[in-house]
Amino acid sequence: MGHDAVVVAGAGGFIGGHLVSDLLASGFAKVRAVDCKPLPEWYQLHPDAENLRLDLTEKLACFAACDGAAVVFNLAADMGGMGFIETHKADCMLSVLINTHMLLAARHANAKRYLFSSSACVYAAERQTEAAVIPLKESDAYPAMPEDGYGWEKLFSERMCRHFLEDFGLSTRIVRYHNVYGPHGTYQGGREKAPAAICRKVIEAKLLGRDEIEIWGDGEQTRSFMHVDDCIKGTKLIMESEFVEPLNLGSDQLVTINRLVDIVETIAGIKLRRRYNLDAPKGVRGRNSDNTLIQSVIGWAPSITLEDGMERTYRWIYDVMQTCNRDPAQLRVGAGNG
Ligand code: NAD
Repeated sequence: MGHDAVVVAGAGGFIGGHLVSDLLASGFAKVRAVDCKPLPEWYQLHPDAENLRLDLTEKLACFAACDGAAVVFNLAADMGGMGFIETHKADCMLSVLINTHMLLAARHANAKRYLFSSSACVYAAERQTEAAVIPLKESDAYPAMPEDGYGWEKLFSERMCRHFLEDFGLSTRIVRYHNVYGPHGTYQGGREKAPAAICRKVIEAKLLGRDEIEIWGDGEQTRSFMHVDDCIKGTKLIMESEFVEPLNLGSDQLVTINRLVDIVETIAGIKLRRRYNLDAPKGVRGRNSDNTLIQSVIGWAPSITLEDGMERTYRWIYDVMQTCNRDPAQLRVGAGNG
């Protein structure tokens, strides 16, 4: 086999599915999409890609995935929103097997580039205790006290990428995603994150004629949310750039969860009574992305407003729920902000 494949690990997931779509549309002839989920469960399945079902915690599977790879995007991880990562710390940490074996395999294949999808969860909790947060800049990751489980795995794997670059010459790139949202992502089942979870709950209320919505926490916790199209643009720019240190990729438009609910209510054209579940997983109190570094090194800034992006996300979830659940009584109700 030649040495020209573009490998996307985690291609059956949210960001991976969009990335494969974008790479194919950009004219890449050999895109290899890999995920451990059965193909019918992939969020997007592109027939023009080579689609492989492999468990990338296994070393041999990673070697098969990276055979002939010129470029590797590692987006595979066992992860979800707060409802998942607070209760699956060991599972989250086991994703270290994926990145370890993928790095070894990419090195073996002499890949020209390797991108690791890290997370804003690497940042120390003590910097995120206020809703009116100071945006997190890349250097804030140290001294380290990341999110338990998930965040520690990400920070450790970041460092492994760095040392594969320094010691073995594998050209690694590290992107720290802040919350990403958009169509073709998880919106139910326990792994969903706040934007999709809130869309789903508002749609459930609308379809079932309810007048109430459950919100995790007091709704005054703050976050920033990046639309997946902005995320894909930024991911490719980081991969192409010569900058090898970790970079934030996120929106810097800070909103409360209550404001996010306002936006979705406006899209749906309803107003709901809010029941605050203070015992639910809430994550840090506030988090925002400082984009100074990424703007200066690759000139990227998000371009899709939260209002626009949520409208597109709501429409997609609404259509899927309509199609999958013709009988509104069958709608699965539960799980939270994510
Ligand atoms: P996702 O859960 O939709 O996709 C991840 C994919 O990895 C899933 O399809 C899953 O089946 C696959 N996977 C898990 N274990 C695997 C294994 N052993 N072998 C092969 N595939 C495996 O998540 P996403 O939102 O697309 O996230 C992609 C990456 O970005 C992840 O590394 C995630 O930690 C990171 N990230 C995402 C966000 C976000 O807001 N979505 C924020 C920060 C970081």
